[in-house]
Amino acid sequence: MSSTLSIALTGNPNAGKTTLFNRLTGARQHVGNYPGVTVEKKEGFFTYNDQEIKVTDLPGTYSLSAYSVEELVARDFIVNERPDVVVDIVDASNLERNLYLSCQFLELGVPVVIALNMIDVAQSRGIEIDADRLAKLLGVPVVPIVARSGKGIDQLFDTILETAGTTKNIHPVLLRYGSDLDQVLSEMLPLIEENNLLTDQYPARWIALKFLEHDEQILEKARQANADLANKLLQLCEAVTAHLQKTMEVYPEAVIADHRYGYIKSVLHQGVIREKFVGDRLYTSDKIDKIVTHRLLGPLIMAAILFGLYTFTFNYSTTLVDLLASVFSAADTWVNTMLPDGPLKSMIISGVIDGMGGVLGFVPIIMFMFFGIAVLEDSGYLARVAFMMDRIFHFFGLHGSSVMPFIVSGGIAGGCAVPGVMATRTLRSPKERLATMLTVPFMNCGAKLPVLTLLIGAFFSAHQARYMFLATMVAWLVALVAAKFLRMTVLRGESTPFVMELPPYRFPTLRGLAIHTWERTWQYIKKAGTVILGISILLWAMMTYPGLPQDKADTFAQQRQTIEHRLQALKSDAAAVTGADVGDRQNADSELKAELNAINSKQAQAHLRNSLAGRIGIALESVSRYAGFDWRTNIALVGGFAAKEVIISTLGTAYSLGDVSTNDTTSLKERLAGDSHWNPVVALSVLAFIMFYAPCFVTIVCIAREAGSWKWAFFSMTFNTIFAFVLAVCIYQIGIILGLGG
Ligand code: GDP
Ligand code: MG
Repeated sequence: MSSTLSIALTGNPNAGKTTLFNRLTGARQHVGNYPGVTVEKKEGFFTYNDQEIKVTDLPGTYSLSAYSVEELVARDFIVNERPDVVVDIVDASNLERNLYLSCQFLELGVPVVIALNMIDVAQSRGIEIDADRLAKLLGVPVVPIVARSGKGIDQLFDTILETAGTTKNIHPVLLRYGSDLDQVLSEMLPLIEENNLLTDQYPARWIALKFLEHDEQILEKARQANADLANKLLQLCEAVTAHLQKTMEVYPEAVIADHRYGYIKSVLHQGVIREKFVGDRLYTSDKIDKIVTHRLLGPLIMAAILFGLYTFTFNYSTTLVDLLASVFSAADTWVNTMLPDGPLKSMIISGVIDGMGGVLGFVPIIMFMFFGIAVLEDSGYLARVAFMMDRIFHFFGLHGSSVMPFIVSGGIAGGCAVPGVMATRTLRSPKERLATMLTVPFMNCGAKLPVLTLLIGAFFSAHQARYMFLATMVAWLVALVAAKFLRMTVLRGESTPFVMELPPYRFPTLRGLAIHTWERTWQYIKKAGTVILGISILLWAMMTYPGLPQDKADTFAQQRQTIEHRLQALKSDAAAVTGADVGDRQNADSELKAELNAINSKQAQAHLRNSLAGRIGIALESVSRYAGFDWRTNIALVGGFAAKEVIISTLGTAYSLGDVSTNDTTSLKERLAGDSHWNPVVALSVLAFIMFYAPCFVTIVCIAREAGSWKWAFFSMTFNTIFAFVLAVCIYQIGIILGLGG
């Protein structure tokens, strides 16, 4: 074997594929503890015993039917790409359930090596597995490994190379499916074989089974190849379906699944598994779950843990946040003294430093938050959250599997709606999926987080963690109510039952935590350095050009000159003045300077108003004033359509443009808190609007792609914006009536 050997890693979600993949290729991929994290295909290369090997990490699946995107992806890859060896990762601590998938590989007749992973976990639960016996019974090699520590990997690869060298004739395993199905299978088989219906791709018996399971993909392929034959086969299937319905009230799919499980059970009962503990079957995880997912205690513990996460994030990150802020203001001051006045300086200070600083300044908070989430995710707790939320979700017309998209989008604050929208792929019902997709953007993603932090910090600084927690709760409430609304109107329909396992608790590894935290933080930084920088400069340009008309600029220059002359005069007088007059002179001096500042500030205001962005902002004021947004806020909110991060940087630019020459370094937070237009009511109204208005552009594109039409993307944009605006108007008007806007 000189050419590259290709192997595919398959298995149930959470069986350890990604862990093995990372160990082999050194690639850094997300290693989660939640079923269904891996949606995309990952490839990597490595060399074992001089043999170059290409390895593909396939999405985790429980079956090879055509129910979900993952299953189709995995199946198509194996059938179309024909990897030399399919390495089926099996969770030894959950053998029976995991072998359901293995069983289907055997039926598909592909070269399989079973990697019996997590034997450490199995052993700690007192389960002993006889791998040789299992191999004999299944007819394929079985190698025990511990992917996390690397134990058994060498044996696994020796076996893989051996298998690849000898795979000439693999016979698909024949399972029995009971008299009714066996009968119809024996009628279908000759028809398929004689006509070579898809037999170049799949074993004939497998095709027949797929007909019985009513597998849309195979049916479609068969129809294209030979429509008459496909119809004939379908008629046979329908006859047996009707018969099964009449006699046992089951569908063929259920009979097939039952027989597969039966086969596995019988294999396992032939001396494969020995369990040491007989009496005490409550494993540690189960014991923990008794408390943690308890009907009453569970939600309380969950609230406490999440609140702890907020306290941790906001209390421990402040030092770093302050440090970064001072670095950026030092940079401002430095550029200010180094560069001559002019557009370049203005662009660097207002466009680059203030814009990026606003975004990057939040990196410590983001990092702490992601670290906390990584702990929850890697330990397995997040899956419990999903489990507990399922009941609530059902009430709102969603599904337990919707929880993950929500959390990914920022359900615990800090996340991104783009992977959130993509994570909805695990949902099988199209309506539940759409309802989830359209409501995940309501979560507080990592880009909204800094804006919320900023406004809360500026106006409600006393209880920051508490308010952030509240903001998260409100986001959930709004998302769920919106989902219910959608499910009662445009997306009406049945809900599907929830099946999800609770993976055992595991101690997160420091390495895993570090990688997860860094990956997500880095994504944020990268975005700030590229997209956000670009938009920030563009917005700066829109806020700078076209400048003031010459005559207006001249008027300001004249006013300035007058004052400067008087200052000069004051100075030259100084020599002549003595004693008590010194105090008067100083007063006059500072008064003049204040006047000068006022003129500068007025000019900057006039300049911004006259700019392209200013004109847009002002035009919007006729509507936005009902919610208390001034034109500068409007500019930021419009910028937020492009990316939510831009809101902060634009506010930064808008408010520092208003102050060009005062050489102070107050941060944006203090600037807003001190601005006459802003007060807690305005802040709350802006907050609400930002939390719920149109998703950012990338999310919109993603929704269009995932939903298969721009209709839903457009719907999401308008629906959210209108909703957010109405909410903001209510908050503002009520606040004003209550007299809180002082
Ligand atoms: P995937 O969904 O199949 O890609 O599974 P992952 O590779 O993400 O693994 C799921 C979890 O199992 C991670 O927390 C891993 O650290 C853990 N894990 C993987 N292999 C082993 C193992 O052999 N022993 C133990 N104890 N944990 C493992
Ligand atoms: Mg994975």
